[in-house]
Amino acid sequence: MDHESPCIHCGFCLPVCPTYDVLGTEMDGPRGRLMLMDGLDDGRIDASPAVLEHLDLCLGCRACETACPSGVPYGAKLTATREAFCNDPVRPLARRRLERLVLQGVALPPWLLRLGMRLAWPFVASGLLARVARWLPGRAGAALGLLAATTPATQGPPPFTAAATSRDDGRHPRVALLTGCISSALFGDVSRAAARLLAGTGCDVVVPTGQVCCGALHRHAGDRAGATRLLKRNIVAFEAAGDIDHVVVDAAGCGSALKEAHELLGDDPAWADRARRFSSSVRDALELLDELGLPPTQRAVPATVACHDACHLTHAQQLHGLSSRLLGQLPGVVLAPLPSADRCCGSAGLYSLLHPQVADALGRAKVATILDSGADVLTAANPGCLMHLARHAAPNATRRRPDGGDRWSADDNDVATGTTQRTAPQGASVGARRRAPSSASPTALHPLILLDRACSLDDDDRGAPSERRLAAASEDLTPAAHRPAASNS
Ligand code: SF4
Ligand code: SF4
Repeated sequence: MDHESPCIHCGFCLPVCPTYDVLGTEMDGPRGRLMLMDGLDDGRIDASPAVLEHLDLCLGCRACETACPSGVPYGAKLTATREAFCNDPVRPLARRRLERLVLQGVALPPWLLRLGMRLAWPFVASGLLARVARWLPGRAGAALGLLAATTPATQGPPPFTAAATSRDDGRHPRVALLTGCISSALFGDVSRAAARLLAGTGCDVVVPTGQVCCGALHRHAGDRAGATRLLKRNIVAFEAAGDIDHVVVDAAGCGSALKEAHELLGDDPAWADRARRFSSSVRDALELLDELGLPPTQRAVPATVACHDACHLTHAQQLHGLSSRLLGQLPGVVLAPLPSADRCCGSAGLYSLLHPQVADALGRAKVATILDSGADVLTAANPGCLMHLARHAAPNATRRRPDGGDRWSADDNDVATGTTQRTAPQGASVGARRRAPSSASPTALHPLILLDRACSLDDDDRGAPSERRLAAASEDLTPAAHRPAASNS
């Protein structure tokens, strides 16, 4: 692990820390956690259940890193600590087992994940899953609720394309799209939108075969071996795609993990250079579109849009305001200012499954600001955020009270309604009228779906999901087609 952090204890990071805001204790904020991690490093502090719980309760959102004037590398420190203690028997067995189960599940072959989603889809569409989720307590309910709130894309990601062995003319960037994970089972239309938009800018787009899950969830949870194994497979797959300029990722969490993934192989002489090359070529799809410029717009997109800035785009990749900047260029789009747009929504990898109480408080608070903004569409450039926010924006979301866990310090009623000063996002006008989630819930979309609708030529490739999602956004606020399903938030 790293040695003592250069923290000067100024506390500038405390107001931006969502868990400090919700839980209100020093050890649930960045400054306290750094002291715990330093103490674990040099042996002054034992890895007791309480100490590891404070560290587990960190979202890994890295808002503290953005706020820190001393450049404390909080994310790297947290990752190293989690790697050291992820299998420690002091951590609750149930939590370790759930982590293991999910991490093994997301690393299954993409075709198997897509098949699983197809089989599950009738239960989602009929509302049965949402009804079951509502009655299931804790983590099981949270997991089913996420799935129930998501309309799986009926299209998969773009088909694999042949390896590119030589450039056509050397003038157009050649990009390779990452589609190898569970998000392709739920958000395949987002990857198709990315491919169409990049092709529209003049890029040659390939989708390498043999690619797998990027390992972001593994890294986030401290499973270094799992993340390294997946990274090696992806390096091989993308190298086989030939001469490419960029690996393009359409999920903020995946992009941030891959940009830093070379650290996993830095000490391995056989892989270090290949890993460095791979990581340095990674770009978020929005980042690249911002750099290259959008293709010419083909049509207006009438929608009032609130952009949630995913933590792993804003804080981990330091790409600020990308969605607003790109969507603001579209005719018909009205941007609804969102206070604290870069504040974590509570999704955070596996966090919403492992710590549903805190995750739900943050999800409700985020949705409250979105409802206040008057937007009919909310965008997030990360699948986890989309699922978590859709679940909390669901018209029939249950205002269930937290079950009163012993670390919960905020008042249950206030947390459940998202009106407490403690849970109100920083910058939101406390005391302002907040609409309760109603039948007019905003539609959750990846920004690439709106950009694709505006900028891509109509063709047979555009599938039903993006059309339905757009119809949901701009014509009817609560259509059956892509309304977040009722869930148990
Ligand atoms: S990563 Fe996020 S939750 Fe964790 S200490 Fe930093 S601001 Fe708080
Ligand atoms: S802002 Fe940086 S230096 Fe100040 S307390 Fe937080 S981590 Fe330490």
